[in-house]
Amino acid sequence: MEVRDIIINIPQLATETDLTPAEESIAYAAFEEMVASIRTDLNEVDDLQIRKAFEVARRAHGKQRRKSGEPYLMHPIEVARICAAEFGLGPTSAVAGLLHDVVEDTNVTQEDIEREFGKKVADIVASLTKLSSLTIRTLSETPESPQAENFKKILLTIAKDVRVVLVKMADRLHNMRTLGAMPRHKQLKIAYETSFIYAPLAHRLGFYNIKGELEDLCLSITEPEQYAFVKQKIQDTAQERDAYIQSFIAPLLPDLNAEGIKYNIFGRAKSVSSIANKLKKKQIAFEEIYDIFAIRVILDVPKEKEKSACWNTYAIVTDHYTPVPERLKDWISTPKSNGYESLHTTVMGPKGRFVEVQIRTERMNEMAEMGFAAHWKYKGLNSQESIFEDWLNKAREMLENPNHDAIEFLNDFKSNLFAEEIYVFTPKGEMKLLPKGATALDFAFEIHSELGYRCKAVKVDQRIVPLSYVLKNGEQVSIITSNTQKPHEDWLKIVKTGKARSRIRQAVKEERMHQSSIGKAALERKLKPMKINLEEHVDALARFYNCTSRHDLYYQIYLDQINLDLIKPLRLENGKIVPDFTDNSKPKSPDHTSIEPIVTKHRPSLNKTGKARIAIEGEDMTNIAYVFSDCCNPVPGDDIFAYVTSKHNIKIHRATCNNAEYLQAAYAHRVRKAEWMDDNSAGFIAELQVSGMDDMGVVQHLSEIITNKLRINMRSFSMSGNEGHFEGRITVMVQNKEQLDTLIKELKNLEEVQIVARIQ
Ligand code: MN
Repeated sequence: MEVRDIIINIPQLATETDLTPAEESIAYAAFEEMVASIRTDLNEVDDLQIRKAFEVARRAHGKQRRKSGEPYLMHPIEVARICAAEFGLGPTSAVAGLLHDVVEDTNVTQEDIEREFGKKVADIVASLTKLSSLTIRTLSETPESPQAENFKKILLTIAKDVRVVLVKMADRLHNMRTLGAMPRHKQLKIAYETSFIYAPLAHRLGFYNIKGELEDLCLSITEPEQYAFVKQKIQDTAQERDAYIQSFIAPLLPDLNAEGIKYNIFGRAKSVSSIANKLKKKQIAFEEIYDIFAIRVILDVPKEKEKSACWNTYAIVTDHYTPVPERLKDWISTPKSNGYESLHTTVMGPKGRFVEVQIRTERMNEMAEMGFAAHWKYKGLNSQESIFEDWLNKAREMLENPNHDAIEFLNDFKSNLFAEEIYVFTPKGEMKLLPKGATALDFAFEIHSELGYRCKAVKVDQRIVPLSYVLKNGEQVSIITSNTQKPHEDWLKIVKTGKARSRIRQAVKEERMHQSSIGKAALERKLKPMKINLEEHVDALARFYNCTSRHDLYYQIYLDQINLDLIKPLRLENGKIVPDFTDNSKPKSPDHTSIEPIVTKHRPSLNKTGKARIAIEGEDMTNIAYVFSDCCNPVPGDDIFAYVTSKHNIKIHRATCNNAEYLQAAYAHRVRKAEWMDDNSAGFIAELQVSGMDDMGVVQHLSEIITNKLRINMRSFSMSGNEGHFEGRITVMVQNKEQLDTLIKELKNLEEVQIVARIQ
């Protein structure tokens, strides 16, 4: 069928595009390639829908271009291609991918889509439009964190139709792949949002490859130097690594061949970001990481032979190499709840090096790469379905819970549904999944909220443990209840799961409501003889006692924090209530009317060095107060951003600060673009950690370089030695990042120094 013959009844759609003939033919070719990558057989109706969707996208976006100058049309084509080729999704998702930005960016309406493409496609496009319109919103007067609200919306859509999330993820993936043309501060914002939300979501849905790629793309933007460094190192060591992998694999081949099944064995380097994370976390050199690669064995066997084939292969590997027992991970008998199945072991390979070996079947491998999408393909074949269902049910349960504020919700969600899991057993031997770090009290709430409320003590493997005991894999847990037990607010510090947390919050709230009703009754009894109407004056009274609300006032009365007996008769003066109080009954703070001062934009400068070198959103900050955050101590040359705190102060953070991801993702509406204006400054404080071999002369060598050679002002120096090893901390005043980098390089060159790292 000719694309141009398709009849589309959307009158406002332009007939002409601005594309050059060359661009038109590139777009058509990309579209045909996308159609060819759809794995399911297309019937005539599907085929017509896809071509019609392309035609609508072509004419709707025909005059738009991306920041890079490329026709906008290439974006929806590519999003559809990612859905089909990389996620393995079917024709509906391809149609939704082609149309995903049409309603938002052009004059085509939701009704047009429904009329032309039916309700299913229209619903997906509507959800996608809603999601992105939320992203753009940056109103500061609305919810505390619009991003958290947005995140909640994204998760709500998973519960409805998972395809919405998958198309959205394809959209994000393509935007991340083509972020180069964006201005730096936008790149950072998108990257942080991606590593905060989309990468964990990809992991959660079992898309390990996509997760790895998203994390690498994020790192290449947030920490370009570190990314380039690790990538180069991986390349530089490739040849040596390949030789080692061959020497590891060779002895296994005769035995594997003798099994008579088709297999594929190879070594695979881990992702740049996962290696960079290890370097950062463990503060070790690249050469010291033993698991830069893993050996993967993929077996081609029918479903019923999977388990035995995998264990046979395990036996072959461990016949040749000694395994490390505690490193055996059997995710075949108990798959991860994102569907991941595999058998992992770490063995001692040639030359005394630890090597991780991952054994799995073709089907399991597809699950690991395509996660949720592969799950559909194998639906009904095994227990995957219920595994995803469990997770979705948990997600729905959290979403339906009304008493969550968005930030709390986001934290709960991240710590619960994105966390690794442990398995524990009930006294009857029933298996329960809990997030890693869950406590004995969480288990009680997991079984039943009543059991949680009445939980008095917990036994783990027959021993009594505290309620705060952190459960471990395979433990058997039983709960001892008491009818007099009540939930405490302190319990919130003990539990980790969202379910327990929300139940406790609810119970505490109800208890407090009950208590404040007792307080209210007491106040009523007090006011009645004075003929003062409670409802009319309660708010004034609450303000007077510096309470946050009338319920707070009642509660303080219940707690005896406000002693009613000490209130001398209250009087009405000019229609206002005036309580007369003795000295003992003074309100908690005499300054009860003061409101926190808001720092205006033009308050005089108070920054650390007395000099302004920063522009925020392009505006010179010479006379405006800001401080350099002491969690990361930025120095000129560092990549930075500004953050407006809840008290309206401006803090400057490094883009690589440990708090950056959270601030940028959850509080994006408070983040401002910040740049250095010039470099001639009094100096900036930076702290270095230095360690290496303890040598008599090390102190002298260090100070010689710092003070004499580089003429850097040293603020403090501390060092401790232990059995030939030393650890030191040096605080220096440097001019800018360049000087700091030179210092680090020079110190690393010292023979006795092994590690020099800047402390965040
Ligand atoms: Mn898009």
